[in-house]
Amino acid sequence: MTNNPSSSRPQGPRRRQMRPRPKVPLILGKPGAAVEIVFLGGAGEIGKNITAIRYADEMFIIDGGLAFPSAQMLGVDIVIPRIDYLVQHKDLIRGWVLTHGHEDHIGALPYLFPQLPRVPVYGAKLTLGLVKGKLEEFGLPLADYNFKEVSLDERISIGRYFQLDLFRMTHSIPDNFGMIIHTPIGRIVHTGDFKLDERPIDGQTSHLEKIAEAGEQGILCLIADSTNGERPGITPSETEVAEELDRVIGAAKGRIFVTTFASHIHRIQSVVTAGEKYGRKIAVDGRSMLKHTRIALELGYFRQKDRFYTLDEIKDLPDEQILVITTGSQGQPEAVLARLAAGAHSKMSIKEGDTVILSSSPIPGNEEAVNTVINRLYALGAYVFYPPRYRVHASGHASHEEIKTVLNLTRPRFLLPWHGEIRQQINFKWLAQSVPHPPEKILIPENGRLIKLTADNIEFDGTVPHGQLYVDGLGVGDITDEILEDRKHMAAEGVVVITALVSRDPLVEVISKGFVKAGERLLGEVRKMASEALYKGVREKKRLEEIRDDIYYPVKKFIAKNTGRNPVILPIVIEG
Ligand SMILES: [Zn+2]
Ligand SMILES: [Zn+2]
Repeated sequence: MTNNPSSSRPQGPRRRQMRPRPKVPLILGKPGAAVEIVFLGGAGEIGKNITAIRYADEMFIIDGGLAFPSAQMLGVDIVIPRIDYLVQHKDLIRGWVLTHGHEDHIGALPYLFPQLPRVPVYGAKLTLGLVKGKLEEFGLPLADYNFKEVSLDERISIGRYFQLDLFRMTHSIPDNFGMIIHTPIGRIVHTGDFKLDERPIDGQTSHLEKIAEAGEQGILCLIADSTNGERPGITPSETEVAEELDRVIGAAKGRIFVTTFASHIHRIQSVVTAGEKYGRKIAVDGRSMLKHTRIALELGYFRQKDRFYTLDEIKDLPDEQILVITTGSQGQPEAVLARLAAGAHSKMSIKEGDTVILSSSPIPGNEEAVNTVINRLYALGAYVFYPPRYRVHASGHASHEEIKTVLNLTRPRFLLPWHGEIRQQINFKWLAQSVPHPPEKILIPENGRLIKLTADNIEFDGTVPHGQLYVDGLGVGDITDEILEDRKHMAAEGVVVITALVSRDPLVEVISKGFVKAGERLLGEVRKMASEALYKGVREKKRLEEIRDDIYYPVKKFIAKNTGRNPVILPIVIEG
């Protein structure tokens, strides 16, 4: 060991000689003010991410995503966060930052934007391209919005109190970033969605050195992606998936059909690369697949020798020259893959000897639908490739070893495990407690709980308005929990509709749907009971509501007694 006697300055172990430290922004705050963090979605769940960060009289928003409905939400298309809290504080909002272009981060924006002032919206190129595509679909004029395209390494200022240093993170869509949020009371690091892929398809690895630098300067709070908080090891690289796709595509003799998430541009790239290598023409089908590939192509995210074809253009080629990329990775019955498997597609159908690759895994809740499609494909004589049996898919989120790397680099005082259900959040917490420098305090955030962060503490401080809205067709929020209960009830027990006409010539009609095979006798009995109540009501000049109740209760009791069932009973009493 040698000491340098000429050096008079103390040498810290981490002193960097080569590179001057980046200037740490000095942001003047207000005495006594705290940072408030509110997750209006995305805490305790995977989906509809939206976070508000406030200091004094200024606030900015991160993301604005949707969630897909659970199997119990019959007829609901999507679920979006309620943002009453933001609307109440709309005068404080100074900016909106979009981390990446996944639906759970941008999918609700066409519903949310119109409710709030037109503040600057920061996002990378692909993210903004996808957002603009959405707004156009909704007929919202782009000129009304103040989009600011940023690089993945940019520093942006929002209002007087926030400076953001963005950093690139690998994920399952290009142009994804996390951020170091400099505030008057300290630094907050938000990982965004991430995995630490050392061999990403575009060669662009995560900006770990930037996180490390922030870690050296001291991080007050870390907000981290806990999706794979239960998964040990390292998430496989996209390049491993590409190698497996190359093997499968290279070995296939007949036509090839591949499905994946439409936004997974790198995965689609891997399929294109392998397909072209083995002399296949690549066709794209399915609404969201067409949309995403078009936008990504326009913005320069694809490398291909040839171009994308339509099904019509390639359907008569020899089988070994055909590769089709389609929607339907979640087994959705209306998507292309399920239609191909059901013989319900107008251009093609699956036949013996086809190869079908599901380069995706089912989102929780979709397992059964995916299983149904896989079974059907096998029955048709196709060769079917899907994970985990084949490595044709990898998660876009960090597993334990990657999470530990981020924890070790950031060494935050406080931690908020976000982007996960509670089981993943708690497992993330346990993992964080096991690293050499565990956080002093870890809160498990819940949607709507206000988190107060000061220079030396983090705590819950009340609850703000929050919740979710169901979008069904064109209706936003007009589907309530009560209506969903009714739908479940109808689905499980069926419905009996009794129409009673109050007039000089009273009339009753009974129809049932989805109810037990009622038989004429039972429905005749119901009609008789309803008629008696109706005639009595007309004679005694009862109000319509009273007549309705006089029909409803006896019929309900009668049906329950005679069938043991409890259908939805709908007496409709009208005056004629
Ligand atoms: Zn994502
Ligand atoms: Zn996400």
